[in-house]
Formats: sequence, C-alpha cells, structure tokens
Amino acid sequence: MPDEPEKKDDVVKVNFDFRRELAEKIEGNLASFCYQCGACVGDCPATMYSDTFNPREIMLKVLYGLGDELLGEDSVMWECTNCYNCHERCPQEVKPVEVIISLKNMLADRGIYPDPVAKVIKTFEETGRTTPLSGAVDKQRERFGLPPLSVVPMDEISLLIEPAPPEGEDN
Ligand code: SF4
Ligand code: SF4
Repeated sequence: MPDEPEKKDDVVKVNFDFRRELAEKIEGNLASFCYQCGACVGDCPATMYSDTFNPREIMLKVLYGLGDELLGEDSVMWECTNCYNCHERCPQEVKPVEVIISLKNMLADRGIYPDPVAKVIKTFEETGRTTPLSGAVDKQRERFGLPPLSVVPMDEISLLIEPAPPEGEDN
C-alpha cells in the first residue's frame, strides 16, 4: 500500500460555506472567475493611498473563503471608495467592487463599521439622505439654476429599511 501523502501545515483549506454565504448576498459566485491577474489593482485609488488595501488580495481571500480575515474588526473593506475602476478593468467580469460592497454589508450585519459610516447610517435613517442638507447646499443649487431638493418621504423610506420578515411569513 502506497504511503499517505505528507500533510503540510501551510495548505489552505477552502471554506466553501463562507463562499456560499457571500454568493447568496451578491446573487452569484462572481469571485470564482478571478484568475488573479491584478488588473483591478492598477487604477484603484484605495490601493494608491493604503499599505494594506488590495482588491486582488481580497478576491484571493474570497476564493479561499477566509471569512474570518475578511470580516474581522480591523477589516480593510471600508477603505474601498466604491469608484468602480476595478469593475471597468477586470477582464473576467468578477465585479470586485460588488464583491466588496457585499462584504461591507456582511460587516454591517455583524455591527462592524467605522464611526463615519455609523454617521451616514444615522443621517439616512433620520433624513432619507446620506449627507445632511444645509443652507449652503440650497444656495449652490440656486447658483447653478437647480430647483430646491424635495422632501424625502420618510414613511416610504422606513418601509424600505425595516428588516425583512422571517421566511414563510406574509408581508
Ligand atoms: S471600487 Fe474599491 S476596489 Fe475597486 S478600484 Fe475603486 S476603491 Fe479600488
Ligand atoms: S482584475 Fe478581475 S480577474 Fe484580475 S485579479 Fe482583479 S478581480 Fe481577479
């Protein structure tokens, strides 16, 4: 009988459960098409200004299913500006930014987000806008010949942001 192959400590075991969880959020297993070419990195503003942020590395961790690293308290995900440059550059239509947005949503579900994001959430819940309005905004709009901003119907917004009912329950 042949010898058992030697087990190596540095072999990464893919966590398919995490990959499935992410694929459900993003409606598809987009990252599985990533062949690690690095085209998404060249024009990424977050990579330019960060020592730790790299969309190719994020996609590699997604391929391995390293959920604990991607969704840790010190996650780099919030450094992404959502500029979509990586989306335009990726030859595989991985849509790295969409994967990262889903990871941000998973972080938020776990209550992990920085203070500035918490402020945006609070402003949105209170006003239906992500940026507070001010007299200066009204004046600038007037200067550019734009009409005043309309009031956001908060009753409709609260319906949109209220948690979905458990599966099987009617709305
Ligand atoms: S969307 Fe995020 S990851 Fe993609 S290029 Fe912009 S900052 Fe980088
Ligand atoms: S450009 Fe697309 S295929 Fe290339 S490393 Fe980035 S995500 Fe992967």
